[in-house]
Amino acid sequence: GSTIGILGGGQLGRMLSVAASRLGFKTHIFEPGANPPAGHVADAVTTAPYEDENALRAFANSCDVVTFEFENVPTAALDLIEAQVAIRPGREALRISQDRLTEKTFLQELGLNVAPFADIPDRAAMEGAVAEIGAPSILKTRRFGYDGKGQARLRTPQDADQALADMNGAPAILEGFVDFSHEVSVIAARSFAGEVACFDPGENVHRNGILHTTTVPARLSAAQRTDAVLMAARILNALDYIGVLGVELFVTPRGLIVNEIAPRVHNSGHWTQNGCTVDQFEQHIRAISGWPLGDGTRYADVTMENLIGDDMDRVPELAREATTAIHLYGKAETKPRRKMGHVNRIMR
Ligand code: ATP
Ligand code: MG
Ligand code: MG
Repeated sequence: GSTIGILGGGQLGRMLSVAASRLGFKTHIFEPGANPPAGHVADAVTTAPYEDENALRAFANSCDVVTFEFENVPTAALDLIEAQVAIRPGREALRISQDRLTEKTFLQELGLNVAPFADIPDRAAMEGAVAEIGAPSILKTRRFGYDGKGQARLRTPQDADQALADMNGAPAILEGFVDFSHEVSVIAARSFAGEVACFDPGENVHRNGILHTTTVPARLSAAQRTDAVLMAARILNALDYIGVLGVELFVTPRGLIVNEIAPRVHNSGHWTQNGCTVDQFEQHIRAISGWPLGDGTRYADVTMENLIGDDMDRVPELAREATTAIHLYGKAETKPRRKMGHVNRIMR
């Protein structure tokens, strides 16, 4: 059978491996960190830094297609891999989503609504940007931010100096604060043949900057639901995308505003594991393997809840809920703010 290479060995890589193996594929994980969660379910694991050219070449040589669960793979590593085997989704989607400035510019040029934003390459740019965008606003590092890391809020313009100091000199963007009523996301897929399938949008609640729950159905009108799906399809088509993509949206009285995109399976799509026939992980494996897509029909109302840090202590009690599916990532060590697993609670 053919082998799917996955860059990154976290929980997303683990669940992609399980889905791939159900379809008869072998998986090979490349992960710099020791003892990755995906390592226990994959057929092969390479533990090496992204700078190890020989390890990368051997990895690429063993794979028929390579995908990723992690966006910040160094460019040089991707070049080496791509010299031997296709990377799906393609490099353009990675390039755009690695950098908030590039990402916001791309989305705006596609005609989608985004928060007002300004480039903050250095301290000197801040004054003009604050005058233009005002407060409340959020300063975000252009690269490497996740789970709310690398962000500083400006409640008033006077917070500018402290916010800049929090960036530690990293290039940033200033974003106007969007007064949204709630947040939703669309998990969308596009196949090799160009067909597009979307899962029902989920409503996301964050706690301490980390996704806490996703609930389907989201509170959206029929028109908003259609809008959300059309926006996701426009992004997929513009990127000639192959695979699953997550699109985070703010719901406002003046329409949907795109917050960010993730060129991979997404935490807010975990509900599909127990709400759909073909979940986001199988959908991604199908797309990158040139298979037709499954449809995204939702068969249940579901709330996904992340199990973070000491939430693991609740597993015995959660196991007594008969219609709650438990998904644990097999991480060696429990740490505060670490995603240890999730549950999908069937509500109806
Ligand atoms: P993720 O873990 O989803 O990748 P992240 O660290 O990349 O998160 P964002 O998604 O940009 O960060 O922001 C985290 C959260 O902060 C958002 O889900 C939203 O609740 C809030 N937020 C971000 N940008 C804005 C904004 N412009 N206006 C209002 N709230 C915002
Ligand atoms: Mg993000
Ligand atoms: Mg986000």
